[in-house]
Amino acid sequence: MNAGGTTRDHRTRVAHRVRELIITAAVEAFGAVRDDVPVDGFQVLTRTRLDDPMAAVRAADLMARVAQSQRTEHALDARAAGRSWDEIGAALCVPADGERSRGEAVFEWLVEGRAPDPTGPGEGLFRTPTTWWRCGSCDQQVADRGPFESHPNDNESGHTEDCPRHRAAVAAWRADIEGGEW
Ligand SMILES: [Zn+2]
Repeated sequence: MNAGGTTRDHRTRVAHRVRELIITAAVEAFGAVRDDVPVDGFQVLTRTRLDDPMAAVRAADLMARVAQSQRTEHALDARAAGRSWDEIGAALCVPADGERSRGEAVFEWLVEGRAPDPTGPGEGLFRTPTTWWRCGSCDQQVADRGPFESHPNDNESGHTEDCPRHRAAVAAWRADIEGGEW
């Protein structure tokens, strides 16, 4: 298989088309309105914004489900065409582990659906459980560690002191704590 530059360029282009398709699906199937805003300093570059990012979350989820079922369907086509589960595992970069062969691991993943994605980050791997986004209220880069803790400061950091969104979150937390005592 060719993993050279040309192939990588093609993959980048295909990935770009898939991202475009998610935006299209967000507009067509989930009612978002798109707005292409120019990128500062470039004449031809635009960045796509949606009035409702939740529509894109739903659209991306729909695409992921379709892609997952297609992955299994095409794997079965490959089996019908004489390819082994080990070959399918190799194509999907599934590692063999101590207990199972690569073929067994990919079968459990794709067909039985009970094993977690063996190509994904596993236990013990360095996985940083933090993500980032730019706050729509204070325009700061915010580190988001998930909704696991009670106080907003333990879940998010980076808002400005006077960020209205962050203040509202802290106020809601305080009201919740005080309300809970009665
Ligand atoms: Zn903020």
